Amino acid sequence: MIRKDAWLQPWRGLQRWLLPLHCLLCGARGERGMDLCTACAAELPRNRCCCARCALPLPVPAALCGECQRHAPPWDAAWAPFRYGWPLDRLESRFKFGRDLAAGRALATLWQREDMPLPKPGLLLPVPLHRARLRRRGYNQALELARPLARQLAVPLRHDVLLRSRGTAAQTELDAVARRRNVRGAFAVRHGIALPVHVAVLDDVMTTGATLAECARVLKRAGVQRVDVWALARAPSPRG
Ligand SMILES: [Zn+2]
Ligand SMILES: [Zn+2]
Repeated sequence: MIRKDAWLQPWRGLQRWLLPLHCLLCGARGERGMDLCTACAAELPRNRCCCARCALPLPVPAALCGECQRHAPPWDAAWAPFRYGWPLDRLESRFKFGRDLAAGRALATLWQREDMPLPKPGLLLPVPLHRARLRRRGYNQALELARPLARQLAVPLRHDVLLRSRGTAAQTELDAVARRRNVRGAFAVRHGIALPVHVAVLDDVMTTGATLAECARVLKRAGVQRVDVWALARAPSPRG
């Protein structure tokens, strides 16, 4: 598949040579081919101690969080290499709400540098945005993060398999119960697509997990045996 912006690559190379990378957080010189300095990149909170099933950050090592012990989520395993906190939240909101694609590229590069702790899926599906929101924002932040990661891991990526069947209110202001209700029935799987036995659904930030849970449910209903959920960052709030 030829990327829409493939013609821009030589220009970007030239731009990098003419304008050295600078850190998006502190303005120092960027390092290792990224718009972040080594010190700021090291400050991003890693999600090393977390629930094996839902990636919820845990204060002390434990196999599963309390919520997963009580009620298993509809997905099989989760991977969220970072915690949603300062300064990652600043980069994420610039990327998501400020049309700052350089911040998105830095986040994607950081994700690419993490080791994948789960078996490789047969297909990677970014959480789709509703048409109206996609038009307003101009890009789907989940797809922008998924593309370089899929390329690096050599996992096929499809953004036309998981469909948003209706628009939903922004999840940000809702509590866990309202989030679940908000996304119920919001996704569908395109008919006539042969799906592999194991897929992963990718979102930028996982908060209560309501959106990813709904995606996992429709994929399992469509016959997928194993659904993993991947997110760049996991918010430290309990799963609802
Ligand atoms: Zn910096
Ligand atoms: Zn859990």
